[in-house]
Formats: sequence, C-alpha cells, structure tokens
Amino acid sequence: MVRSGRRRRLLVAHLFLAVLVLLDCDENHSEPDQLYGPTPISDYLLGDFEPARHPSFVNVSELGIRTMGRTIYLRAEAAEALTRLIAAFHSDHPDVDLWLVSGTRNFAAQQSIWDGKWSGQRPVEGQRLNQSVPDPRQRALKILEYSSMPGTSRHHWGTDFDINLLQNDYYRRGPGLEIYEWLVENAPAFGFCQPYTSGRSGGYQEERWHWSFLPLSRIYLQDWNDRVAADYPGRHRFAGVDAAADLAPVYVNTINSDCQ
Ligand SMILES: [Zn+2]
Repeated sequence: MVRSGRRRRLLVAHLFLAVLVLLDCDENHSEPDQLYGPTPISDYLLGDFEPARHPSFVNVSELGIRTMGRTIYLRAEAAEALTRLIAAFHSDHPDVDLWLVSGTRNFAAQQSIWDGKWSGQRPVEGQRLNQSVPDPRQRALKILEYSSMPGTSRHHWGTDFDINLLQNDYYRRGPGLEIYEWLVENAPAFGFCQPYTSGRSGGYQEERWHWSFLPLSRIYLQDWNDRVAADYPGRHRFAGVDAAADLAPVYVNTINSDCQ
C-alpha cells in the first residue's frame, strides 16, 4: 500500500511537471510578463526589486510552509510545488520537520551579507576577513565559498530556497540525513534540484540545504547569461566589486548539470 501510494504521488508529480514543461515551451519564452511581471528583466535577474510587492511572489507561510517565524517570499509556482513536495515528504517521514530558513533575497539583502563579510562585521568561520585576508581577490574568493556577490544569487529569482540548517554535516546523520536522502531521490519529481552538489569543478562549495525550482530557474539562468553577464555589475556597486566582478559568470554557471 505504501509503495502504491508513493508511486501514485510520483506519477501525479511527474504529470504536474510535464504540464509545467509544456507551459514553459508554449508560453514562458514568448511571454516575459509571466516570467518578470512589471519588473524590467535585468532588474529582476539582478534582484533589484521588492519581492513583497511583486505580483508573482507569495509569502510561503500563507501556503502553510514552515519558516520558524521568518517572513519568506518565493515565486508562487515554486511555493506551490514545494507544498506538494513537503506533503509527500511528511507522508514518508511524519516525525521529521522540514522548514525554510531563506527564500528570495533581493540585491540589497545579498549586498548586506556580502558587505558584512567583506568589512569583517560579519565573521566568516570566526575570522574578520578584513584582517585575516587583506588581499582583495583572496578575500572575495573566501566569501564566495558560500556567499554570492549581489546580483549573482539564485535567491534573487524567487526559485531557490534554503532549508533547516546551513551546515552540510547536519545532512549526514539523523533527521538531516533522512531529509537529504529523500530529497535526492524525490525532489526532481516535483521540479526541484540541488545546484551546489559535491564534486563540481569549481564555484561555490557543496550546499545540501539549497534547492531550486528548475522549471523557472533554468530560464532565469539562461536569461542571466544572455542579458546580464556581459555587463555585470552594470551601474551597481558593492564592496570589493573591482576585485571580484569578473568571477560572477563562473560562480553562476558552475552548478550541478541536473539544474541546467
Ligand atoms: Zn541558498
């Protein structure tokens, strides 16, 4: 019974994904309104907008997704697929909690993380990088192990989110391992993939907590490359921009091939 219920859920999820892919082929490429709404395309791709005021974004708590008190926005399509994934997960693991710690972060939010790490106000592995890594290029590379430059984060797009704990070790035993193993096996059927897997040739370190809604994020990735990469960071400034900006396309594109 468990197996047939699980198979039925996977079938439904696959059908839903097939419909999304068809919609994507038929409409999204020719209808920027559906992808970007009222926001200019490059502003959206750089995260230069307010998700709370964008008509395609929802507060995930309103769909019953747990956030431990945080206010988290995602694209409605991603949030709805995530509610289906979480329901399926809880049906297999009723005693394990799954929640979000981060969703959409705009340019300003990402800049506050980046600038804080650059200036030393936000320690990295217990170190103030302005003191421990004075060389600008090396400091940028240290921050880039886990944090994006503003304008290059997949979190800008409303398709990506972080779950439970931002520590790979948490996902190697106990409930974290149950969650991670289930996601690796089942998340693709709901449209989700893990962009930052282990064993890639470069880019960010492994992030077992970061997942992406592929039916939309692969379009935004392509558009980021087509419309933003050559001119990045455009008129935008942030700490260390001159030492780091050329690395942006490498970090954006060095992802799990299943997410491309
Ligand atoms: Zn993340």
